[in-house]
Amino acid sequence: MIKDARSELAQGEYSAVQSAIPHLSQPELLEARNKLMQALQVSQQPREIITLFFTHLQGIVGIQGLRFHFVHDETLNLGREAVHHCDYRLTVADAYLGEIVFSRSKRLAEDELALLESLLAHLVYPLRNALRYQDAIALALQDPLTGLGNRIALDKALHQELQLAERYDQDLSLLMIDIDHFKLINDKHGHSRGDQVLREVAGRIQAVCRESDITFRYGGEEFVVLLRKTGASGALIIAERLRQEIAKLRFGEDGESFATTVSIGVGSRGRDKEKVDAIFERADKALYYAKAKGRNCIINLQAAN
Ligand code: GH3
Ligand code: MG
Ligand code: MG
Repeated sequence: MIKDARSELAQGEYSAVQSAIPHLSQPELLEARNKLMQALQVSQQPREIITLFFTHLQGIVGIQGLRFHFVHDETLNLGREAVHHCDYRLTVADAYLGEIVFSRSKRLAEDELALLESLLAHLVYPLRNALRYQDAIALALQDPLTGLGNRIALDKALHQELQLAERYDQDLSLLMIDIDHFKLINDKHGHSRGDQVLREVAGRIQAVCRESDITFRYGGEEFVVLLRKTGASGALIIAERLRQEIAKLRFGEDGESFATTVSIGVGSRGRDKEKVDAIFERADKALYYAKAKGRNCIINLQAAN
């Protein structure tokens, strides 16, 4: 369960551990341990679970600093880092959960380490469950073909971004991108080639956009990009760059190499407060006009205000 750490303490070791914590009597230590276990059951947020663990640990072993490295490179720093460290890789069965680093200005004695390790055993399962829950939520918001956020993720993000834009009175634009005659690609080159086109178009959109822009797969061959702090004129420049870059992509084998184009509808936040649906509908209508105009082009619809 915990590499380099004992998860269970034998009876004899347990009393030795208790004697190493002079500020806590045996019943107090038991109570602190129970409180820790209960607290860790309550949350489903990995960062919150580790923060709770740290708070309880401060009272039991006097840990001053805690650093946690999550699997996906993210780090959580709590308290103040001190000079003496000890660190553990946390694993449950085959699942690696992350690395935890404790620090304290006074060196940890052997029995304190044993206590720390026995307390870590209470952390691993709640943490594993919270990480799984987080992964499940992320998967539910992701399109499996392209790895982009899906329609549910877009809906959440759009509400959030519009709220932020209104609060700080910033621009916000939305591009609705639809591949032209995609059905023909499927019919002529097969469904899996169609899938490849979707993946590569998605990749090119992300490569062209800035890091602050968020791309979603809205439906079959439709993508939406949210452009933060970007008004209509900036959005048109990005849309044109996207249109050109996507047209440069080549798919298929040498003999039957083919290209594709996209039509793009642009909608931007107006000056007055408005609902998410209003901007979305403008972009959707603009896309409809771009298709009607002959495809492979961009239409921008301004807000009335
Ligand atoms: P338009 O230029 O008017 O947008 O025409 P279109 O052919 O692109 O649009 P239409 O809505 O008629 O067809 C979209 C096609 O996309 C139909 C559907 O079978 C296909 N499609 C939807 N999802 C996927 C997918 O995940 N993979 C593949 N290969 N095809 C998909
Ligand atoms: Mg479509
Ligand atoms: Mg289409």
